[in-house]
Amino acid sequence: MMIPPTIATILSQTILWVAIGILLAALILHSGIMFFRNRTLKVYRRLLYEDELTGLKRSIYLEQRFSDVLAEIGDDVSFYYINIDNFKNYNDLFGHHIANHLLRAFADRLTELAEPYGRAYRIHSDRFLVVYPTPENDDEHFGRSLLKTVKAPFNIEGHEIKVTVSVGRYDIPPEKPRYHNSLFRSELALQEAKSRGKDQLASYANRLTRQSKDSFEMFRSIKEGLRNEHFYLEFQPIVSVVEKELKGLESLIRMHDKHRLRFPLDIISYAERYNMIEEIDRYVVKRSLEAFNKFKRAGVPFEFLSLNISVKEIHNPAFIDFLSEETAKHDIDPGALVIEFTETTDPQGLEAETRFIERLRSEGFKVAIDDFGTGYSSLMRLSQNTLDRIKVDKVFIHDIARTKRNRSLLESIMKMAETFRLEVIVEGVEKERDYEVIKNFGIQYAQGYYFHKPMRMGEIIDTFTNKKR
Ligand code: C2E
Ligand code: CA
Ligand code: CA
Repeated sequence: MMIPPTIATILSQTILWVAIGILLAALILHSGIMFFRNRTLKVYRRLLYEDELTGLKRSIYLEQRFSDVLAEIGDDVSFYYINIDNFKNYNDLFGHHIANHLLRAFADRLTELAEPYGRAYRIHSDRFLVVYPTPENDDEHFGRSLLKTVKAPFNIEGHEIKVTVSVGRYDIPPEKPRYHNSLFRSELALQEAKSRGKDQLASYANRLTRQSKDSFEMFRSIKEGLRNEHFYLEFQPIVSVVEKELKGLESLIRMHDKHRLRFPLDIISYAERYNMIEEIDRYVVKRSLEAFNKFKRAGVPFEFLSLNISVKEIHNPAFIDFLSEETAKHDIDPGALVIEFTETTDPQGLEAETRFIERLRSEGFKVAIDDFGTGYSSLMRLSQNTLDRIKVDKVFIHDIARTKRNRSLLESIMKMAETFRLEVIVEGVEKERDYEVIKNFGIQYAQGYYFHKPMRMGEIIDTFTNKKR
């Protein structure tokens, strides 16, 4: 049946209007979405790029707009990597509220100094970066006024606070401006400034002294080593003296550095000097705990795992938090872990060391003093009765069969240990004849090349499980 034309017209008009309506609605919806999207994007960008506390731009902004920022500032541009000296002390002394206020005031001062020729950014916590035109004739004018400007006391809520900074400068080669490289080099220069004491400026330059070049190399290889897994652990068996049975394992750090093997003592002492030791200690904790569980699963019959940490950690309560959390996360009984460190050589550190040991033991860890007998506070430490174990340094064990003096020393150490009810472990047992001597001393544990050398994880498993035997 044919539809009358009037109805057809009405119908087509209705369809037209509906279509227009839909189109309009879609348009409104679209612009609404765009509006909100742009707003969200704006908020997101602000959160991403602006540092809430100080109002400075964050360094990620610089990273993403690097070439624009350089173009704004000029052809020759330098990075000044700035770190407030001992900022932690201000936190401890005045509390977070005032310390935050100080950071804000500090950031304002940086901005005032840097602009309009340069820009200031916050990297994180107490680290800042100023991008500034490279001074002509290698003049240090800007760097000097930077050190001077921050030194004028800040007045924060009635407190007069004085601050110094360490600064590392890197002049970016205009033909090859790269953000990460420049940041890294300015940070290296900063480390150099710190190693010269506080309140110093150092430049990354090609005319570095031999010594600072070596330090830079080491610093770089440790940083890269941590990032790229150039570190690994070896484990040295610890045996019961009489039966020579496996009792424990000590994890020892190793590093492949461009296929050269660096000695752990070098790594540790550099890392301590350049404030990288916590990263290393944390790495060792993580890897040691993973290894602990792997050994257990493989059926290696050991009772405890010893790990070395730097004595620097006695000033760092956050380290024990980390250790406890990781131990719980790996579902390991803290009583099966022995934390080894050397005695502090700093008389001021004695109290911190005692607190540190007490806290470790209250969390259930065992504590051993490493290299026992070489530190000067040994007796005092023993009398405080806060230790589980002492590890007699290898100098006393070396060639003990032929050195009467060492035998007498070991004898008196054993008497002390008995008095204070401490377990004793000797290390550095290398020869059969030395073993025959120490066997008669009533010592619980021994370690040394005579029994086993430090080994990779797989070798430990092969040696101590039935797999190979
Ligand atoms: P340490 O804790 O006293 O470690 C014992 C050192 O003696 C190890 O050297 C081990 O390989 C070596 N050794 C074992 N048996 C014998 C032996 O019979 N004769 C001789 N002459 N040496 C033996 P390594 O691995 O070179 O470590 C040197 C030092 O580096 C360690 O001394 C420790 O102070 C530090 N260290 C090693 N690993 C770490 C770590 O993961 N963290 C920290 N903070 N320090 C570590
Ligand atoms: Ca040790
Ligand atoms: Ca030792």
